[in-house]
Amino acid sequence: AVKNQGRNGFHYFTQSLQELADRKMKIISELRTALQENQFDVFYQPIVDLKTKEVIHAEALLRWRRHDGVLILPEHFIEVAEDSGLIIEMGDWVFRQVCQFLLSLPASANNISVGINVSATQFNSNKHSALNWIEYLHELNLSTERVILEITEHTMMNQNARVSQKIALLHEAGFRFAIDDFGTGYSSLSALRNFNFDFLKIDSSFTSQIGRASADRALVQAMITMGSGLNLQSIAEGVETEEQRQILLDVGCQIGQGYLFGRPVSGADFQKHLKEASSG
Ligand code: C2E
Ligand code: MG
Ligand code: MG
Ligand code: MG
Repeated sequence: AVKNQGRNGFHYFTQSLQELADRKMKIISELRTALQENQFDVFYQPIVDLKTKEVIHAEALLRWRRHDGVLILPEHFIEVAEDSGLIIEMGDWVFRQVCQFLLSLPASANNISVGINVSATQFNSNKHSALNWIEYLHELNLSTERVILEITEHTMMNQNARVSQKIALLHEAGFRFAIDDFGTGYSSLSALRNFNFDFLKIDSSFTSQIGRASADRALVQAMITMGSGLNLQSIAEGVETEEQRQILLDVGCQIGQGYLFGRPVSGADFQKHLKEASSG
């Protein structure tokens, strides 16, 4: 019986593995084409002052408009991009797009910074150059403070000499750093101990429960207290309701982002939103 099961199991197993590998290869080649044919776009989501709802920063979020017109979210392609190394080229592209976006903002918005998500593999690769990023900003006459690099604990965990040198170099040059999805990994606290972040982004899984579960409320409050003790500004992710905004303010959180204030939109739509907000 064992033999039989094994045979069937094995057959099924190899087939699905093969299918997975094929699917992955297909996405990799589609991503290459996407880079060549300019199918990527960067969307921007407002990060606001929770009290006044004024836009103070933005987060850059990658979007893929496939040739058939379908808009694909990062969850469907970032991992494959990381595994294949394509993320380095994609990440450099996002970085340059964001810099151009910053340049295009009106002078009245020159205090707005943009958060860029960076993957562990990106910083781990010798094909990624921190110096190029610094030079690029200098050439554009943009302050490095306008870029906030959002990294997850995962990146911090995979810290080797190359990664930490890169982070130190960028930090020294004035880039700011945010620890993203805070509280979801198992090394959150050591990540904070080993590196000076500027922002702490409280994961949306806490925000979404803050009105319902007292544990989440207590945890968020503790994160904020800890953050301010370490000189970090806390940003609540995934704020969707007015009630959540109120509770966040009550527990001392001053900055947030979420559908309540605005979904990620194209650069042009973000600019329109800014204009309307400042004129109204
Ligand atoms: P993240 O950095 O934690 O980004 C926040 C995610 O939450 C975004 O998903 C955003 O659209 C979503 N979000 C914002 N407000 C709300 C809300 O009120 N409710 C809910 N349910 N969701 C909200 P998105 O754009 O699908 O991105 C997912 C993840 O993909 C990002 O998570 C980030 O880790 C990664 N990612 C996005 N762009 C890039 C990129 O350019 N490079 C890299 N390496 N990763 C990226
Ligand atoms: Mg992020
Ligand atoms: Mg996040
Ligand atoms: Mg996330």
